[in-house]
Amino acid sequence: MSELFTEGAPIEDTRAPAGPIEERWDKRRFGGKLVNPANRRKLSVIVVGTGLAGGSAAATLGELGYQVKSFCYQDSPRRAHSIAAQGGINAAKNYRNDGDSIQRLFYDTVKGGDYRSRESNVYRLAQVSVEIIDQCVAQGVPFARDYGGLLDTRSFGGVQVSRTFYARGQTGQQLLLGAYQALERQIAAGTVTMFSRHEMLELIVVDGVARGIVARDMVTGEIETHLADAVVLASGGYGNVFFLSTNAKGCNVTATWRAHRKGALFANPCYTQIHPTCIPQSGEHQSKLTLMSESLRNDGRVWVPVKKGDTRRPADIPEGERDYYLERIYPSFGNLVPRDIASRAAKNVCDEGRGVGPGGLGVYLDFADAIARLGRDAVAAKYGNLFEMYERITGEDPFEVPMRIYPAVHYTMGGLWVDYDLQSTIPGLFVVGEANFSDHGANRLGASALMQGLADGYFVLPNTISDYLAKGPFEKIGEDHEAVAEARAAVEGRIEKLLSIDGDRTPDSFHRELGAVMWEYCGMERTDAGLRKALDRIRELREEFWTRVKVPGENEELNQNLEKAGRIADFFELAELMCIDALHREESCGGHFRAESQTPDGEALRDDERFAYVAAWEYTGHAPVLHKENLEYEYVKMTQRSYK
Ligand SMILES: Cc1cc2nc3c(=O)[nH]c(=O)nc-3n(C[C@H](O)[C@H](O)[C@H](O)COP(=O)(O)OP(=O)(O)OC[C@H]3O[C@@H](n4cnc5c(N)ncnc54)[C@H](O)[C@@H]3O)c2cc1C
Repeated sequence: MSELFTEGAPIEDTRAPAGPIEERWDKRRFGGKLVNPANRRKLSVIVVGTGLAGGSAAATLGELGYQVKSFCYQDSPRRAHSIAAQGGINAAKNYRNDGDSIQRLFYDTVKGGDYRSRESNVYRLAQVSVEIIDQCVAQGVPFARDYGGLLDTRSFGGVQVSRTFYARGQTGQQLLLGAYQALERQIAAGTVTMFSRHEMLELIVVDGVARGIVARDMVTGEIETHLADAVVLASGGYGNVFFLSTNAKGCNVTATWRAHRKGALFANPCYTQIHPTCIPQSGEHQSKLTLMSESLRNDGRVWVPVKKGDTRRPADIPEGERDYYLERIYPSFGNLVPRDIASRAAKNVCDEGRGVGPGGLGVYLDFADAIARLGRDAVAAKYGNLFEMYERITGEDPFEVPMRIYPAVHYTMGGLWVDYDLQSTIPGLFVVGEANFSDHGANRLGASALMQGLADGYFVLPNTISDYLAKGPFEKIGEDHEAVAEARAAVEGRIEKLLSIDGDRTPDSFHRELGAVMWEYCGMERTDAGLRKALDRIRELREEFWTRVKVPGENEELNQNLEKAGRIADFFELAELMCIDALHREESCGGHFRAESQTPDGEALRDDERFAYVAAWEYTGHAPVLHKENLEYEYVKMTQRSYK
């Protein structure tokens, strides 16, 4: 494998304080330097992204008194992909008195991530989770309440308590409206300046320090440079490298990939989450997949026929001829096993020829028992909008027939490497939310992304960034600085190149083909031979892209093909790194399943001796350099994960 990458120095310091784990976050906050309120007004921060992570960060930094510039590519910050989140947000409140605690949320998350996340970060996340709910309630987020008026909760996969707070099937939307209102308040107060319909295309690094971004005004095509004392990336995940995913169509890797090319290490790029409950693909021309929230597994039962190739209608298959395979294989967690496990189990039964629906690529998620037990109205009150969405897409009514579901790409645990302060390896560049690799290890538990995004944005970053900003005042940088001019010229040159190729293939056709390669070889199951094949094909396709892509129109107008082409060019480079990462990790862990490394009963088999580390990759322009950050477990014992 030495032709694919080289190994560099290990990462020795993550800046997490030592001492008892429950005191580390307090210790870090007390040890970090503060900036006094009068000086904050003189310091500026760019925040790229207005989802839950970026929206909450920009609003909080504005409230603290910094000068903030906030960027998003949508027409409104309120349209960030976070709005799509359905099921809920975790917090260790223990309102149900069912044995939950900070320690249990910490433990569940480390175990759920298959022992590939950092203990210090995860413990802090569990501690902060409690504050998030109070913050959002104070903002007026309409969380579901029970009959007595107390906040209601439900369960998500990989846990045996009920700690997920929700707002029907629209939790992300309601949380985002809360963050958006806080952001708008700061915009009105003049601390935050909003740049919507602006796409960051380059990071400006001066003397090794992040000092700004180059962005394109997506309406006029104008290329702008924006300078600041620190830059925060909150640009979301890169699941769309697979073309088909549950992510919003616009989600892409450009912001983090550009920073990676400028020196920020990219961690665990191959860790992708495949969500078990999505509406199966219906045809060749589909460009988007739809999630059916994990919350449905609270009441829905997953099954397939016992017999292969059984084409009877579900209602005609008697109980004795149904295989409720999750309940059978994992009796303790049943339908609420974590996503990686449920996804692989669905793939296995479909591979055995027992899948349902077109092409046999589906399993049933059946609510008949819940409807009989709770009544139709109670089920509608909990999941009504999700049932309606399913019916609109498939034409089938889940009150009458079971839903058909199949795994799909949903979330990326990998991202830019950050230390305990959420700072990347480029000083002054911070990364929050799905864009960083931080807290979920090799598999994210449901309802933990919203928790992490808001923990980062409302609570962690505003505290840790002050330690960096306290080094100010920083040297003033002008637009004519050599590094600024270079970054701008690089963006202009790339746009010119994309427009001048004038080939015969659309950007989308390349993206679709790249996605198919990634799904086939770097998807739910990976092998050495398959990943090598994928690497060859990705390289061929990338070369073809740079000679055959056709981008009609000009730069100086709204040009969605130009936007797409730039993003796909970055996806090609990322895809290659994902395959190298997946190839070098010759173990299975969480969402990364190497067929060569499994237990006799087909579960993921980790190799802690060789792979208990974060793989942080350095960009070189040719073979990347691997830096390992060893993971040490003082508080949770590493064991073979079992949900049986
Ligand atoms: C269908 C669906 C349902 C989900 N449900 C849940 C759930 O119930 N619970 C849970 O915990 N998680 C859920 N998730 C995951 C969760 O929604 C996301 O991980 C989370 O919202 C990501 O938030 P973020 O702020 O990091 O990024 P995003 O919300 O993706 O925001 C990214 C922001 O960055 C901006 N941006 C990106 N690139 C650039 C650029 N180059 N220039 C300028 N701006 C840029 C975008 O405009 C946007 O504002 C779900 C995900 C999906 C797909």
